[in-house]
Amino acid sequence: TCPECGHASKENRPDQATFRCVGCGHQAHADTVGAINVLRAGLVRRDANPA
Ligand SMILES: [Zn+2]
Repeated sequence: TCPECGHASKENRPDQATFRCVGCGHQAHADTVGAINVLRAGLVRRDANPA
């Protein structure tokens, strides 16, 4: 999933280490994008279930 525009596609991953969004052209290391997506998922969970 693109952290810039939210576009989700396997086409965004030309190889294991590279993320390049086919929607907006955003480019980053795949691990960086993965970490952002994990962080966002955690924030959604926190917002849905306030401690
Ligand atoms: Zn994008």
